[in-house]
Amino acid sequence: MSVFNFCAGPAGLPPEVMKKAQKEFLNWQDLGVSVMEISHRSKPFLSLAEQSEHDLRDLMKISDDYAVLFMQGGGRGQFAAVPMNLHVPGKDAVYINTGIWSDGAYDEACKFTTAVELNVRNDSDEQFNVTPVSEWQLPNSASYIHYCPNETIDGIELFDVPKHDAPIVADMSSNILSREMDVNQFDLIYAGAQKNIGPSGLAIVIVKKSLLERNGLATPSIFDYEIQAKKESMYNTPPTFSWYLAAEVFKWLKSIGGVSVIEQHNREKAKKLYDFIDESPFYNNKVHTSVRSLMNVPFWLKNESLNSQFLTESEHSGLLALEGHRYVGGMRASIYNAMSNQGIDALIDFMHRFAKENS
Ligand code: PMP
Repeated sequence: MSVFNFCAGPAGLPPEVMKKAQKEFLNWQDLGVSVMEISHRSKPFLSLAEQSEHDLRDLMKISDDYAVLFMQGGGRGQFAAVPMNLHVPGKDAVYINTGIWSDGAYDEACKFTTAVELNVRNDSDEQFNVTPVSEWQLPNSASYIHYCPNETIDGIELFDVPKHDAPIVADMSSNILSREMDVNQFDLIYAGAQKNIGPSGLAIVIVKKSLLERNGLATPSIFDYEIQAKKESMYNTPPTFSWYLAAEVFKWLKSIGGVSVIEQHNREKAKKLYDFIDESPFYNNKVHTSVRSLMNVPFWLKNESLNSQFLTESEHSGLLALEGHRYVGGMRASIYNAMSNQGIDALIDFMHRFAKENS
């Protein structure tokens, strides 16, 4: 039986990458040892690091105005690192609240800077929605504007980027590399790796070099962007195995045609699933069509008493991790870059069958 993994993160990785890693596990580049058993300062690892940054720059068209950092501490590590590095005395950071993750980022930021939260959720009983980006009432002055373009739990994605004189900071943990985005519209992008990049343990930070000197607070060195940029993300021992896998994922993405190709694929997968849900009298999706995530598709059974049966039977059918986050309930299918079309078809087949048997 084929197994399809709909986990929100750590998420499934491309099978090609996993097979290659398995093959190289004990003997990487004919060194006779694993990539995780060698020094991060050895020539082969330094060349992996350099290549991975080059590939990511290529994939996202990142200019030389930006530093690319491979850091530790995941997404939440960045919830703290961002205010520590971008704090400006006497100015508030502005946090846009579109859901659970952006709200969490705000809570953490308040430990390190003064911050205000702008709630742009525009929900009704029936529907989750967000005020259009162009209508956000942003204050004139801010140390930076933080937002989350893809709320992994809520299944909400923003396709427009806010504009402001203050630096725009985006938590792209769950949609980085999923579709074409113009990096130049952002001043800082960060992402925990464990969805579209690789295993957990790594966070990617893409930051305008002009911001590196802002770090006025007593920022721990491992979280200091300026230090990490100077040390090429090797101030301390990086998570080398995660980095190796991320490098392989970047190569894989390039080999299939890059971000524009995966975007097309992602749009088709998401459309198929949303269309099925919308047409079914058995399931529904509460997110307004204009802000539906291409990566995380929450859905609800109209008869919620069938939830646990749905989960047991889906798991027996090889469809893993469909339970929605405890904050929003229902189900959620996370369909990141590595999710195949076959996985979407298998899920729709199962949902169709389940609905028929239980209507
Ligand atoms: N931001 C977003 C959008 C996320 O989805 C997550 C994790 N799912 C995080 C932040 C937190 O990441 P981590 O668990 O790596 O700290």
